[in-house]
Amino acid sequence: MTDRILEFLRARREAGNDTGPCLVVDLDVVRDNYNAFAKALPDTRVFYAVKANPEPKVLKLLAELGSCFDTASVVEIEQSLAAGASPDRISFGNTIKKERDIARAYALGIRLFAVDCEAEVEKIARAAPGSKVFCRILSNGAGAEWPLSRKFGCAPEMAPRVLEHAHRLGLTAYGVSFHVGSQQRNPKMWDGALKDAAKIFRDLAERGVHLSMVNLGGGFPTKYLKDVPAVKAYGQSIFRSLRKHFGNRIPETIIEPGRGMVGAAGLIEAEVVLVSKKADDDKVRWVYLDIGKFNGLAETMDEMIRYPIRTEKDGEDMGPCVLAGPTCDSVDVLYEKDPYFLPFGLEIGSKVLIEGTGAYTTTYSAVGFNGFPPLETHVI
Ligand SMILES: *Cc1c(COP(=O)(O)O)cnc(C)c1O
Repeated sequence: MTDRILEFLRARREAGNDTGPCLVVDLDVVRDNYNAFAKALPDTRVFYAVKANPEPKVLKLLAELGSCFDTASVVEIEQSLAAGASPDRISFGNTIKKERDIARAYALGIRLFAVDCEAEVEKIARAAPGSKVFCRILSNGAGAEWPLSRKFGCAPEMAPRVLEHAHRLGLTAYGVSFHVGSQQRNPKMWDGALKDAAKIFRDLAERGVHLSMVNLGGGFPTKYLKDVPAVKAYGQSIFRSLRKHFGNRIPETIIEPGRGMVGAAGLIEAEVVLVSKKADDDKVRWVYLDIGKFNGLAETMDEMIRYPIRTEKDGEDMGPCVLAGPTCDSVDVLYEKDPYFLPFGLEIGSKVLIEGTGAYTTTYSAVGFNGFPPLETHVI
């Protein structure tokens, strides 16, 4: 939360425009975060994960600062190009792509693609001949609050075969990628994946294929309720592991921060719609907000991401609440298994501020479920 955001929200309220929830993103925080990544990992190129927040002003700022872009679709490629990034600063990092989208990306100038199996390599060899590919390996996501688990990547033992196949088909077998899980609070979790990556480099070198790059993925955290290490600690830990596993032949590296780049730059203002109890002796109040799982807070799924919430009554006595969204779907409950403590003075119409909401909110917002509009966004 920054003074600029609070000032913006004050003006919005005074103008009477505070009719629904809204996200405000402060570009100064995005700039600070980019600079912190660049400083903590000075020899590493930054590929911002566009899906975290594709607002044009965010992408434009990052393009101006020198960032590259990790994209997952043709639309994200076009958004990155529109922000001013040249095609050589854009990767198509999704391992699951339609061949016609690979061809479209190739026509737009994209030459760097992710794969995790031989069938995907074959699509790229046909639709984007001569391109660079990197092979994603599985990571168990241990230590992460939003693990990405098994959907992407292959077993490390399989990666040399996938990359050798790419080499045989005339592609450049460029490197290895992994993602240690989003909101990864342990900087040491890169070590195991880097050990696997180094082994893949050695195995392929023995077969005459020389890889160049390790893609360290995302996973850098945003501070929610619990403290997280500074990005500097991640840089140091990653560098130690690179030295340990690659010796003095450290490969080219890239990172793909999403959450760590924009999460802390955003603040949502929402409103209490109802406070009620389900029975006279109920110890837990139900607090319904005008924002929920379908209009911005999807990452509360399984109560995984627990956002800090500020109210006008902070400092007063607090009690446990079930926190829920406004839609008519019973899964639209944010925190129930682990009730959220909020002030007893919280009333219908009270405003609440939800911190750390710059990443994975706007794009997870439904277009109009129950008639609730997508999350209003302002970038300042
Ligand atoms: C989502 C994603 C990221 C960003 O992850 P964060 O944990 O938000 O930093 C990076 N790389 C890939 C391939 C992704 O899918």
